Amino acid sequence: MKKHMLAISAITAFAVLMTACAELNPQPAATAAVSPKASTSPSPSAKPTATVSPSPAATKTPTEKPSEKPTAKPSASPSPSASPSPSATAKPAQTAKPTGAPAASGDKKAVSWYYMKKKKGQVPDFPAETKKMKPEQKVIYVGTGKKVYLTIDTGGPLGDVDKMLKALKDNDAKANFFVAGYNIKKDPEFLKRLVKDGHLVANHTMTHKDMTEMTDEQVKKEIEDYEKLYKEITGKEIVKYFRFPYGKYSPHLLDVISGMGYSSVFWSTAMRDWEPRKNGADDPYNDIMNNLHDGNVILMHQGSEENIEALDRIIKAIKKEGYELALLSDM
Ligand SMILES: [Zn+2]
Repeated sequence: MKKHMLAISAITAFAVLMTACAELNPQPAATAAVSPKASTSPSPSAKPTATVSPSPAATKTPTEKPSEKPTAKPSASPSPSASPSPSATAKPAQTAKPTGAPAASGDKKAVSWYYMKKKKGQVPDFPAETKKMKPEQKVIYVGTGKKVYLTIDTGGPLGDVDKMLKALKDNDAKANFFVAGYNIKKDPEFLKRLVKDGHLVANHTMTHKDMTEMTDEQVKKEIEDYEKLYKEITGKEIVKYFRFPYGKYSPHLLDVISGMGYSSVFWSTAMRDWEPRKNGADDPYNDIMNNLHDGNVILMHQGSEENIEALDRIIKAIKKEGYELALLSDM
């Protein structure tokens, strides 16, 4: 069993598969860091789908709507959450055929975002597909310099909003919120507070569903409906940053999103924060501080109590390391 775990750990070290909301990562990033040596990069031929690791258990994120089925069906690129059992790894990714996308052309092939964690202070490695991304697709996953971009994903419960906003305000820190549209409908005051406090609130779709399983028209509607809702409540135009629910995208969708004027925002740190943390607030603290690097785009889920609990301490520590907490629009 230990050997097996080590093997998993090694795989995880190759690819810290962290995706937005509801994604499963077989090993917390902290565990990956403990493994003897994280590989600096996957073999050039390795497809992202080939690195999908087994998930010991099909844990559902606490931050998702119960009705959501993250990525349970076969798809061109099984995301971490698409492999609820270890047997899923037996499937060679190469044989997987796109099923959900309306047209199965190469650039519509669904991909799940991930990164390869390195030592503290070092910018992670990013998957091969990032090399094919074009500047006009406006994809963001890491910045440069002494800036850290805290991106808070609110696809699930809002949690202790007062405590979270206080931690940000007390430390004079700004954050970037990707709030699902249904949460804004449920609680418009939350959006108003974020905007009033000077945070950036960005487009995370109305329904928080897998965009790779939608038609272009459906994707556009998700985004435009969000824009309308934002304007209705704040009286302002939305700043055009977008995050794919579950980090699932395709090159074609990057074109669609950038065609609407948006930058697509992924991340360079994520955590296993869709489930209770073993060591409480120490886990998010360590996960973030052990991977802190220049231009770090940190993904946190607001639904995690431990994240909110740790937020004040995390911000203080990030600042102590000489970083400014910045808005994506400062990038
Ligand atoms: Zn999300």
